[in-house]
Amino acid sequence: MTQTYDVIVLGGGIGGYTAAIRAAQLGKKTAIVEQDKLGGTCLHKGCIPSKALLRSAEVYALMKESDRFGIEASGVQLDFAKVMSRKTAIVEQLHGGVQYLMKKNKIDVFQGRGRVIGPSIFSPRSGTVSVEQEDGEILTLVPEKLIIATGSRPRSLPGLATDGTTVLNSDDALRLEQLPESILIIGGGVIGVEWASMLSDFGVAVTIVEYAPRLVPSEDEDISRELERLLKKRGVTVKTGAKVLADTLQKGETSVSLTVEHKDQQVVLTAEKALVCVGRQANVDGIGLENTDVKVENGVIRVNEMMQTAESHIYAVGDCIGGLQLAHAAAHEGIVAVEHLAGHKPHLYSPHQVPRCVYSRPELASVGLTEQQAKERGHQIKTSKVHFKALGKALVYGESDGFVKVIADKETNDLLGVHMIGVHVTDYISEAALAQLLEATPWEVGQTIHPHPTLSEILGEAMLAVDGRAIGI
Ligand SMILES: Cc1cc2nc3c(=O)[nH]c(=O)nc-3n(C[C@H](O)[C@H](O)[C@H](O)COP(=O)(O)OP(=O)(O)OC[C@H]3O[C@@H](n4cnc5c(N)ncnc54)[C@H](O)[C@@H]3O)c2cc1C
Repeated sequence: MTQTYDVIVLGGGIGGYTAAIRAAQLGKKTAIVEQDKLGGTCLHKGCIPSKALLRSAEVYALMKESDRFGIEASGVQLDFAKVMSRKTAIVEQLHGGVQYLMKKNKIDVFQGRGRVIGPSIFSPRSGTVSVEQEDGEILTLVPEKLIIATGSRPRSLPGLATDGTTVLNSDDALRLEQLPESILIIGGGVIGVEWASMLSDFGVAVTIVEYAPRLVPSEDEDISRELERLLKKRGVTVKTGAKVLADTLQKGETSVSLTVEHKDQQVVLTAEKALVCVGRQANVDGIGLENTDVKVENGVIRVNEMMQTAESHIYAVGDCIGGLQLAHAAAHEGIVAVEHLAGHKPHLYSPHQVPRCVYSRPELASVGLTEQQAKERGHQIKTSKVHFKALGKALVYGESDGFVKVIADKETNDLLGVHMIGVHVTDYISEAALAQLLEATPWEVGQTIHPHPTLSEILGEAMLAVDGRAIGI
């Protein structure tokens, strides 16, 4: 069977389904091809399930400390099966929502594995998608424009193959039926840190091993140091600057051990399970790119600022093009691609304006340049740091660790970066992102009237502090 469309989207994750919805809104006859479940990594294996588990872990940790709030709670018990079913219920509810949006916007959904084919009897141009459905039937979908949004999968480390039971990746970890007593997390980036924080709150003994000299190495150094300090305070063992010797991996019936090189010494680490969190690999293989002139560089699809590949009618968005590999970036890229192919003038994607969040306890959130990046780019900088322990609402919450750091250009007054570690910071980083978008100066953000008492007050204060104008709340 052959069908023609204005727009075909290959991959139904957040980048793909957002693009499909926007295309339909702009009057394009649109289809989406998904081999698994609409919603992709973010909904089924990423943002949503991990945050549902993190919330349960946070509640559990809080209940164990309830006497701090004057509440005596005895017999607090963790029912991990219920924790997991709550997570599944949230995912299913949102999955239903995405399916509904496809119907509402009259987007045809094809379930099956799609592959791009070259010029053929169906079209003189490459970009036709052949879809292998579960029953083996092959469909041929011919688009005017194609958007590739095939996402990414967990990266593995040579010699450290995951087996789904003892050596896990983040997909496996979301399927755990029981919590291990101890875990060795390899990789201290965003995903590794979130799992470390969550599992530690659930009572698992966590060791986290990171090759770089600090956790979340792409974030500002002050933030990394504070995170490491706070995780250690909670009992997490953190080994940074530590190299895993993958060929030393030994798996027993109920344990796994690995040697790491740390501070010129070889240390054997043993735990019930290991969790490998060493980044994500773009899904660019086996999707037929060799039948096109689309270029793959460093394992990701190369695109221009309008998300066009080397074949101008084929676009690519989301994790498969690399970059920040975040859900909101993927969604924005999807909109850029569609508005461009529809002849509109999209608001372009700028990594400088994309907030980055880590949902550990406490949370991390940032936007813009780190101090090191600002200096490397030749800025003369001024910085401020305001601590949560001075903030009324943080004390009310009982969570006063952390700080907000603002970096601005001394000469131009431009806001260069905002870096936060502390309670619920992911909820108000958007204010800093808006400031970046509007090219506001720190003083202008500081003049915004923040309601009292709120956590967001700290942002206003940190902005004013850059020019020595903080009130000192
Ligand atoms: C544990 C974890 C936590 C995360 N937490 C956050 C977070 O809190 N915030 C955040 O912003 N980001 C987070 N991310 C990252 C986020 O999930 C991704 O950036 C986002 O999902 C990328 O969206 P995408 O549409 O590009 O790709 P994906 O979501 O990976 O979707 C791609 C889709 O394409 C389908 N597909 C692939 N190949 C084919 C084919 N040949 N035919 C048909 N279908 C195909 C796949 O089945 C998949 O459904 C997290 C990731 C992980 C793993």
